[in-house]
Amino acid sequence: MGRAEDEVVSLTSELIQIDSQNTGELATTTGEAEAAAYVDAKLREVGYETEVIESGAPGRHNVFARLKGADPERPALLVHGHLDVVPFDESEWSVHPLSGSVQDGYVWGRGAVDMKDMDAMILALARQFAAEGTVPPRDLVFAFLADEEAGGAYGSHWLAENRPDLFEGCTEALGEVGGFSLTLGEDVRVYPVMTAEKSIAWMRLRVRSRPGHGSMIHDENAVTILAEAVARLGRHRFPLVLTESVQGFFDEITTLTGIEFPTDSAAALDGAVAKLGGVARVVGATTRDTANPTMLSAGYKANVIPSVAEATIDCRVLPGRQEAFERELDEILGPDVEREWIRNLQAVETSFDGELVDVMTRAVQEEDPQAHTLPYMMSGGTDAKAFEKLGMRCFGFAPLRLPPDLDFTALFHGIDERVPVDALQFGTRVLEKILRRC
Ligand SMILES: [Zn+2]
Repeated sequence: MGRAEDEVVSLTSELIQIDSQNTGELATTTGEAEAAAYVDAKLREVGYETEVIESGAPGRHNVFARLKGADPERPALLVHGHLDVVPFDESEWSVHPLSGSVQDGYVWGRGAVDMKDMDAMILALARQFAAEGTVPPRDLVFAFLADEEAGGAYGSHWLAENRPDLFEGCTEALGEVGGFSLTLGEDVRVYPVMTAEKSIAWMRLRVRSRPGHGSMIHDENAVTILAEAVARLGRHRFPLVLTESVQGFFDEITTLTGIEFPTDSAAALDGAVAKLGGVARVVGATTRDTANPTMLSAGYKANVIPSVAEATIDCRVLPGRQEAFERELDEILGPDVEREWIRNLQAVETSFDGELVDVMTRAVQEEDPQAHTLPYMMSGGTDAKAFEKLGMRCFGFAPLRLPPDLDFTALFHGIDERVPVDALQFGTRVLEKILRRC
């Protein structure tokens, strides 16, 4: 085997070739075991004593390995990636999404940026460190996980609840989604470090009322009451609230570029955020809570007024806002609408400071002198939600130096997902420095 930087491209490619689509259904999500077996074999080949754990259902496999550090007194660092990917429609792609083909300077395929790229970097470095006998400053726990793309019930959350021993001593975690460069102006590149995530809160609304005949006067129709509440909620704009991570992001961009982020109105702030390009999609959603109606169901016959009508709402709530958000919800929905959480994975946030942040910043600046790091919040969610419950500070930093014109955020779960070969090698060099100094 070669050094990590040489091996990372073929590892990424081979991981992409393993079909580990997570459909969200147990019966059809079957490829994680094969991906885990691949990673396990690669780790065992260089001498790791690995553990492969099934997390709550057959075939949901996770791989763990620990590399002992020089100082057993220091807490361990969890370095994690997920092995599952979201489904795809191959007819929309210009290469087969499972090809892992290397062409035009990119590795192509589902998972190229989310997140078999980072899996491959972690795996390549774990292999290099073992092969050359590297002892990191503290214990490194390498974790390759199932089920992130469906929320981690059969992955990180199961493991955190049932096998906390795997994470013994871990006080910090390094995973997705951050570290990709954004080019602002001529020669400023920022590498956002994910320090926060909104919640994932799926809510069911239900109105129960008097059923009746569709031909008669009826002023307590469940469908009408629900539809009015859904429309009020769907059109509601929650207040601007800038948490520490989002404020830190804006402040650093202002310092570097002069772009101001006025907070006197949502429209003014959105206008400024739009200047950031593709990443505006993510950043814009982190300045307020959102509640988007996504499903409706009621009735079974055209002339029967049903007794129940239901809707599903996808809510994403900022750290620290849950109580205020629910108060606001109740005011909007009114007394006739029942609500319950189908899933509610809490928001997380940590501060952008400390030794690990300094190490990340120095490592990326040594490889890219124009680099600046800054905190940011993800509008979605990752396995960090499970690890935060175990008391870890969670950071998302999968370093990639990207071409300025690449719309990177569109590649996440997108068509023609691909990662530049030189970005993978860059990322491996940065991650190597981080893990050697952490
Ligand atoms: Zn991911």
